[in-house]
Amino acid sequence: MEPQRSPLLDVKGNIELKRALAKAPSRLPLPGSRLKRGPDQMEEDLEPEKKRTRGLGTKVATSHPRAMALTTVPQTQGQTAVLKIPRKTGPRCSTAIATVLKNQKPGPAVPAQKPGTTAPPPVVGRKKPSKRPAWDLKGQLCDLNAELKCCRERTQMLDQENQQLRNQLREAQQQATALGAERRTLEEELARMRAQAEKGQRELGNLSAQVLELEERLGTQEGLVQELQKEQLELQEERRGLAALLEEQERRLQASEAALSGSQAEVASLRQEAAAQAALLAKREERLHGLEMERRRLHNQLQELKGNVRVFCRVRPVLPGESTPPPGFLLFPSGPSGPSDPPTRLSLSRSDERRGTLSGAPAAPTRHDFSFDRVFPPGCGQEEVFEEISMLVQSALDGYPVCIFAYGQTGSGKTFTMEGGPGGDPQVEGLIPRALRHLFSVAQELSGQGWTYSFVASYVEIYNETVRDLLATGTRKGHGGECEIRRAGPGSEELTVTNARYVPVSCEREVEALLHLARQNRAVARTAQNERSSRSHSVFQLQISGEHAGRGLQCAAPLSLVDLAGSERLDPGLALGPGERERLRETQAINSSLSTLGLVIMALSNKESHVPYRNSKLTYLLQNSLGGSAKMLMFVNISPLEENVSESLNSLRFASKVNQCVIGTAQANRK
Ligand code: ADP
Ligand code: MG
Repeated sequence: MEPQRSPLLDVKGNIELKRALAKAPSRLPLPGSRLKRGPDQMEEDLEPEKKRTRGLGTKVATSHPRAMALTTVPQTQGQTAVLKIPRKTGPRCSTAIATVLKNQKPGPAVPAQKPGTTAPPPVVGRKKPSKRPAWDLKGQLCDLNAELKCCRERTQMLDQENQQLRNQLREAQQQATALGAERRTLEEELARMRAQAEKGQRELGNLSAQVLELEERLGTQEGLVQELQKEQLELQEERRGLAALLEEQERRLQASEAALSGSQAEVASLRQEAAAQAALLAKREERLHGLEMERRRLHNQLQELKGNVRVFCRVRPVLPGESTPPPGFLLFPSGPSGPSDPPTRLSLSRSDERRGTLSGAPAAPTRHDFSFDRVFPPGCGQEEVFEEISMLVQSALDGYPVCIFAYGQTGSGKTFTMEGGPGGDPQVEGLIPRALRHLFSVAQELSGQGWTYSFVASYVEIYNETVRDLLATGTRKGHGGECEIRRAGPGSEELTVTNARYVPVSCEREVEALLHLARQNRAVARTAQNERSSRSHSVFQLQISGEHAGRGLQCAAPLSLVDLAGSERLDPGLALGPGERERLRETQAINSSLSTLGLVIMALSNKESHVPYRNSKLTYLLQNSLGGSAKMLMFVNISPLEENVSESLNSLRFASKVNQCVIGTAQANRK
């Protein structure tokens, strides 16, 4: 026989099962969505039973609709049991259970039943029939049998219920297993999702960092963009400016092009005109050349008419500190046409004391009249003097040798006339710088007609028949090398001074430098030998060469400007000391050379076969500047002082002799 099971045990088992089932869904993450059959559904299955239970008047907690089918049974401390009433519970059993429950009063807790132990059968039954008398044993037996039968039925019913509950439990376990599997799947999925979420978080972090970086970059880029925009604006502004400029340039270009086309037309017409002018110019050049040659011819004729040997007399003014000569001592009678004529005559009065003594009465002063090509009274300046000789200088350019002398006693103004006064004042410039300036300027003019000129200067002094270079520089300065007059080459008529410098000159400043150098060289010599300069002849020579390449014409001639040594003579009555003897020797040399000059001029004038050029260094050096083809001019410089009257007369007499000379017809040195 199957051991009788207590219905309370089943109830408790059901309660345990129910608790397990009630707990299971609560641990699932998504009960409502995941489970097809959740506890709610299961409770719904129980719903009719609940109603039936209520109908029995059982005390049921109604706080929650789901809990309506459940009856809370106080058990052990804090424990609750859920009682499930089987569907097929009969009215009797239900009544019995209800009775049991009704009899359970709050009080001491029912001790928990140990698993595997059997609880003592509760006192369950119908309302006991009225107690049989002790003697009614049969009746009591009958009651007991009935009660036994009832208990058996109940046991059977509870077994069935138990079986059902087991089935339900199995189902629930299966469901729990499925749910567990599902839960694991979901947990895995959850883990995966979490991993994904973490990965996502990391990616998000990375992306955030990237975003930050990009934002940072964007900030930089924005700065750059702003700069670029600014630059763009500037460039646009510049472009506008350039465009405006371009427009302006184009406008100008158009205007220029218009002007150019106009100019081109003008150029074409000008070219035609220029060609016509060139033809005219050629004609005029031809004519000009003819005129130039004619001018040269006429000029020469004029010079010839004036005489190839001319003598100008110049009287220097009385210098400060000098005694004024008596009135009428020097007179300058006017020419035949009156005072407007340039003076050509000079009258010098000399009171002859010896004659007066002989007669016993003061003799009337003797008048000595002289006539020259031109006379310059003391008031005449350098400019006026030069004007008179400029035509002669012009002849040198035309190819005629020209020689200009300054003759006179020391202190009569020879150097002043030739080189100029002291201090470099242009007003007192002498003939040499003026003549050269004139030559340079005329040569420049003639260059327009095709003539090319070159000038080479030399400056020497002849002292005691020795030649010294006044242009010497460096070691030769002051001492001078041995200078000799030689022919320039075998068969050549040209003469040259050995060891002397021949300096090409082309402008005034170069000439000034040369004159300055000559003055310095003379000063050095002067300290060595007293007043040597006045005891020597200074010869400035300029070799002029001209060429007309277009016409194959050439001309060459020397221009000589000579500052002669003082012409004064020693008084023969004076006693000669040692210094005076030297002076006498000098004077004799000077006299000799000056008289040789006079003799040469005479010989030339008389057309003698022998001309004694070689008798002195001076005449030998000037050989080519004298003679038949040369034009000669002699300045006779006179002192205005009465005390110098004797020397003045000597000079005037010498000059008069020269003035009487007519030297053959001059011929230009043309090739
Ligand atoms: P020379 O050379 O004949 O010995 P200078 O030329 O040395 O004579 O002249 C002597 C002085 O007379 C110098 O002081 C000079 O300046 C002066 N002299 C000469 N001629 C003139 C003149 N025409 N006008 C002014 N001063 C003159
Ligand atoms: Mg002098």
